[in-house]
Amino acid sequence: MKRRNLIKALGAATVATTLSACKPKEQNCGTTQSSNKIHKWKMVTAWPKNFPALGTGANFLAEKITTMSGGRITVSVYGGGELVPPLEVFDAVSAGTAQMGHAGSYYWKGKVPEAQFFGAVPFGMNAQEMNAWLYHGGGLELWTQLYSKHNLVPFPVGQTGVQMGGWFNKEIYSMADIQGLVMRIPGLGGEVFKRAGGSPKLLPGSELFTSLQTGNIDATEWVGPYNDLAFGFYQAAKYYYYPGWHEPTACLEGIVNKEAYDALEDDLKEIIKTACMSANQNMLSDFTAKNKTALDTLINKHNVQLRQYPKEVLEEFKKHAQIVFDEVGNTSKMGKRIYNSYKTFATQTKSWLDISEKAYFEAR
Ligand code: CA
Repeated sequence: MKRRNLIKALGAATVATTLSACKPKEQNCGTTQSSNKIHKWKMVTAWPKNFPALGTGANFLAEKITTMSGGRITVSVYGGGELVPPLEVFDAVSAGTAQMGHAGSYYWKGKVPEAQFFGAVPFGMNAQEMNAWLYHGGGLELWTQLYSKHNLVPFPVGQTGVQMGGWFNKEIYSMADIQGLVMRIPGLGGEVFKRAGGSPKLLPGSELFTSLQTGNIDATEWVGPYNDLAFGFYQAAKYYYYPGWHEPTACLEGIVNKEAYDALEDDLKEIIKTACMSANQNMLSDFTAKNKTALDTLINKHNVQLRQYPKEVLEEFKKHAQIVFDEVGNTSKMGKRIYNSYKTFATQTKSWLDISEKAYFEAR
């Protein structure tokens, strides 16, 4: 009896402490945990609505958030151009026009050059390594810090895995073939391409097919077979190059307006984080599962010619990449911190992956 009373008393004391420590406006207040407030969110994206893997990945994230929160957050997804143009997602979420966005951080290189290290780094880390850096190597903390002054909270939402090198209408034999070539290629890869003599352009995915067909661009990269088949690039270009030296993965981003995020109860914040993590893995699995079948269709049904970049060309790109990183990594104090963190982690993980993944790939 005594023991039971003691437990009861302790329980009551705990409840009392929790309640007394709980000021009404505090986020951690127990009484706000299961609030019935409904958060109606809009998610703007940089992709055509329902586009394979990218658009459906955004849908997956929206559905997960709505389901996991029991409808306390509802998320409506908008394709690029429906609410705001694809390349204005960052500004729209920052300003609160939409509470959430899905895009790629390298699209904002004119505004936040340092953000490119969170998107895709030529000859840099692959999907496995990027996730390790972001979740367990301090990467996401730096990203969060970088975006906080833009009123945004970032999350990794979708890895593409190693991309393809792009679509061309002529074969690439040497660096001479790169000179003056107008190619859609974003981010750091685009800058490297420029230094190597090419002429990079940044266009949203939805404009690529027409641009390629009308000769507005000579070449384009997008993602990989699964996505590129869906856009029908094989109707406008003949040669399909690999590997995607410029994007060993693209880490796509889910961005949340900071005020909208801060207004959430703690359990809902956790749901956002967890749903983003789940969508991040889901997209990589989706691409990995579908790319080979799509590549077979491109080659066997549409007569696409698969080509590998000459070693000489890759070596030349790699040389320029190092110079570009040093410059971008020195644009600001924060850029330096991000670049140093990325570089240190990439060096370490490479030496581990050399004796694990790489040795295994060679052995199997
Ligand atoms: Ca790409």
